[in-house]
Order: sequence, then structure tokens, then C-alpha cells
Amino acid sequence: MNVLGIEGTAHTLGVGIVNGSGTVLANIIRSYPAEEGIHPREAANHHAANVVDSISEALGTAGLEHGEIDVVAFSQGPGLGPCLRTVATAARALSLRLKVPLVGVNHCIAHLEIGRLRTDARDPILLYVSGGNTQVIAHTRGRYRVFGETLDIGLGNMLDKFGRANGIPFPGGPVMEKRALKSSNYLQLPYSVKGMDVSFSGMLTAALNLDAPLEDKCFSIQETAFSMLTEVTERALAHTRKNEVLLGGGVVRNERLREMIGIMAKERGASAHVPEGEFCIDNGAMIAWTGYLMHGAGMTLPVRESHIRQNYRTDEVDILWKGPTKDF
Ligand code: AMP
Ligand code: MG
Repeated sequence: MNVLGIEGTAHTLGVGIVNGSGTVLANIIRSYPAEEGIHPREAANHHAANVVDSISEALGTAGLEHGEIDVVAFSQGPGLGPCLRTVATAARALSLRLKVPLVGVNHCIAHLEIGRLRTDARDPILLYVSGGNTQVIAHTRGRYRVFGETLDIGLGNMLDKFGRANGIPFPGGPVMEKRALKSSNYLQLPYSVKGMDVSFSGMLTAALNLDAPLEDKCFSIQETAFSMLTEVTERALAHTRKNEVLLGGGVVRNERLREMIGIMAKERGASAHVPEGEFCIDNGAMIAWTGYLMHGAGMTLPVRESHIRQNYRTDEVDILWKGPTKDF
């Protein structure tokens, strides 16, 4: 069985093809260049302009004909309305044309499932840190539950906003990581962990108002924000008695964040897992693989019920497929 998955929740358009053995046959990623931040309508136009070619390219890479696709999956939410509607339209059209089932996939769950496929993690705590999302997710009682999340903006957005205000083009995170390496001068910034939740907007305001060298500010933002994430991830491990941490989302490309999570996991006797870069960022293969699992559990969508879900919550989805089995 071959499943074609289309990702398009934000600035990245992805088309992936995965087979039933979990082999990724293609993973085409085309990002809208969001130098000035993401304009939803323009990102959607980018996806519309590129989706047909990306599907052809994915089929070519996989060495498959259209007729060899058995299921079409798409990112149903959460995300930006215009982007979601564009890829949903493409997925519906393809599913009708090929006369194959359609599966709507929750984007955050797809990050977790591709991580389980690509690493040794079996029943992990997922620390998912991207532009728009920051969540700590784990499987308990038949669903992926959100144990903690940002109360305001995603960490990636915070880094990008700070970067933009300091003349760093989008995406700010990677440049700030390099700048941070040049400093070890920690400046106090608001450390906001509220229960299991985190908040970044106060830190952003404080950092923007600091009169200090950019290197020191980048270093201090990283140290503070990543410590907050490490704290809530550790608490989720303790609470669920799980012993694996999985990282996902664009921000986890950051070596310092990986290092902090790695040290915390090691001290607890837990393991840390990071998928390869193309599976950390938004991608079509994760939608295809989750679509494969969901299709196997009968979770397909009639086209008339395939509306997008801008605020689709991770914990709304019953895990009817063979997900992690251990429970606490
Ligand atoms: P995503 O939303 O998952 O596509 O991830 C994009 C976000 O990841 C942007 O906000 C980037 O600034 C951020 N990002 C990418 N690489 C790094 C890095 N090395 N360090 C920190 N943030 C990063
Ligand atoms: Mg994502």
C-alpha cells in the first residue's frame, strides 16, 4: 500500500509518499519564503502554485504512477485557514480523481508518529517546538494528551520576532543560535513556567527592551527558553513514568536545546530521540505515515466531511490505530 500525504498548515508545502512497511519513498518540501513573516494568503498562493508539481515530483522520486497511490492524506489542522484550505482542496481533488480514500491528519500527532517511525522511541514524551506551536505531548488513555503548552506564542515565532526586530531575516532561530555561541554572559529574563505551561511574550518584550550586545541577548533568550522547556518536559516524564523523550518541530534543530534535553534525560535514566532534519520540520511524509496508520484503523473521511480544522486539538483524536500501548 502506498499513501500520499500533503502537508500545508503554514509556510511549508510538503508532499510525501510512504508505503505500508514504513519506507519513505518521497518527501518533497517546498517552503514559502517568509522573510517578512507569514502572510497566510500569500503562503496559500505559494502552495496552490506548487502543489501539482510537488505531487508529480514525489511520484517521480518514488517511481510510482498516479494509479499506484492507494490513500490520500492531508494536514487537516491546526494551522492557517487559507493554507489548510488550499491543500485540503488539492487532496480532495486527488482522492476523487484516483477514487481512493481520503484521511484528514492532525499535524501535531503526525510529528509524533513520524518520530516513532524514524527513531527507536516507542512511547515517548514529545517536545514539539515549531514556529507556531510549543507543546509537550504524550499518550495516555487512548489519546495523545497535551501535558503542557505555550499560553501565548510558539517559541519559534518568538525567536523570529526578536530576530526581525534586530535585523535578522526569517527564520531568526538558526542565526540566533550562531550568535549565542559567541556569548556566555547571562542576562536575567522572565522565566515563565506556570504549572506545565510556558509563556514567551513577556520574555520577548523584556529582551527587546534590553540594552546589551546582541550575542548576550541571543544567549540569554536561549538559556531561559530552553530551560523552561526542559523543566516541563522533565515533569511530564516524571508524571507519566515514561522514559523516552522525542523532539520535533523546527526549533529542535538547535544544538543547545538538544544538549539540555539530553542532559536532563540522561540524569533521569531516560533516552532522547531526534528524527533526521527533514522529519523534524513540517513535511509530507509525516502526514502520509499517519494517514497510513489511520486508514488501517478505518479513520477515513467522506469528502463532504473533510472540512479543515484551524484549531484542531491534539487530544481530540481517538488513537484507534496501533499507537503506543504502554499506559500509566
Ligand atoms: P517549523 O514551524 O517547524 O517549520 O519551524 C520553523 C521555526 O524553527 C522557525 O521559527 C525557526 O526560527 C526555528 N528554527 C529553525 N532552526 C532553528 C535553530 N537552529 N535554532 C532555533 N530555532 C530554529
Ligand atoms: Mg510542525
